Amino acid sequence: MLEKLISFDTVSRNSNLDLITFVQQLLKNYGIESVLIHDANNTKANLLATIGPAIEGGVVLSGHTDVVPIDGQEWTSDPFTMTKRGGRLYGRGTADMKSFIAIILGALDALTKSSLKSPIHLAFSYDEEVGCIGVPSLIREIKKSVPKPRAVIVGEPTGMKVVSAQKGITDVRTIVVGHEAHSSQTHSGVSAIMVAAELIQYIRNLAADIAVKGTHDHHFEPDHTTISVNLIRGGTAVNILAGNCTFQWDIRSLPSEDPMVYVEQFKKHCADVVLPRLHAISPACNIESSIQASAPPLRFEADSGAEQLCRMLTGDNDVRAVSYAAEAGHFQQNDISAVICGPGSIAQAHQPNEYIDVEQVKMGTRFLYDLINHLSR
Ligand SMILES: [Zn+2]
Repeated sequence: MLEKLISFDTVSRNSNLDLITFVQQLLKNYGIESVLIHDANNTKANLLATIGPAIEGGVVLSGHTDVVPIDGQEWTSDPFTMTKRGGRLYGRGTADMKSFIAIILGALDALTKSSLKSPIHLAFSYDEEVGCIGVPSLIREIKKSVPKPRAVIVGEPTGMKVVSAQKGITDVRTIVVGHEAHSSQTHSGVSAIMVAAELIQYIRNLAADIAVKGTHDHHFEPDHTTISVNLIRGGTAVNILAGNCTFQWDIRSLPSEDPMVYVEQFKKHCADVVLPRLHAISPACNIESSIQASAPPLRFEADSGAEQLCRMLTGDNDVRAVSYAAEAGHFQQNDISAVICGPGSIAQAHQPNEYIDVEQVKMGTRFLYDLINHLSR
């Protein structure tokens, strides 16, 4: 099954419909009806299905169907052909996170033959890797058509450990409009790139400040909110003061911190300190910052339905948090308790030669069968 899922090139910029249609047909073969929730262009879809009685107290198994690109990465085998080498299964999405979905689909026979007293809901999303774009409409559909579930298990790779908190994401784009002039006439123009450099330095100082003086939570690695600038574009020629520069920055915030505080602080600095100076040269100069994507954090919620269930099934009682974002925060934000617990290691995710240990797939499979047994009692 994993081999089949890996063969679909579901890099987020592509359609995931071939994979989703395959899953829908497979479910149908087992007599399981599913609903697709399409994006605005009808090129992508979430899938929602229920196995077992349509009553409250079910468990949602949540996974994303998209994968990150392979551009510029050196792979020793075809990323979209699953390859087994020495106890490992290689391919894009083996760790993040098609194995979790493959384990579920591989257990459809057992799932349909079991006598579930509480339902299992399958919630497979699109575009998680580009800012959790698909999951909001999927959750809306769950709230509309599914009797309230007791828990969501997001099967991102945690080595089958129970993760009960994650950082939030806020992605900001800043557009600097300068004033073009001959590069020898710096007094009569504004290089947007020079301004951007100054603003990036401001963000760098802000991040360094947070690392020292901000909130610390030892469950996270690193244990504080981080900010980094990772995309930049601007200018036309080396001898023209750059008319524009756009850069994007990424805030990974602790659940206890509001990332918008930092965005507002940055905007205030632009408005009060930087812009007046630019306007003295040209009133057309501008700095504009807008949120491009965001994902809420997953907050610790001791003894939540999801946490209790997964601790009981895995025997893992340690308190864990991750710094990457997942869809768990979205579910929690909608009053459905969630944890992250799935096979594989995040260390292999997004990497060239991404792999999952066969042992992890076995652990994930055992976990699912234990869940089925538990819900059948
Ligand atoms: Zn993932």
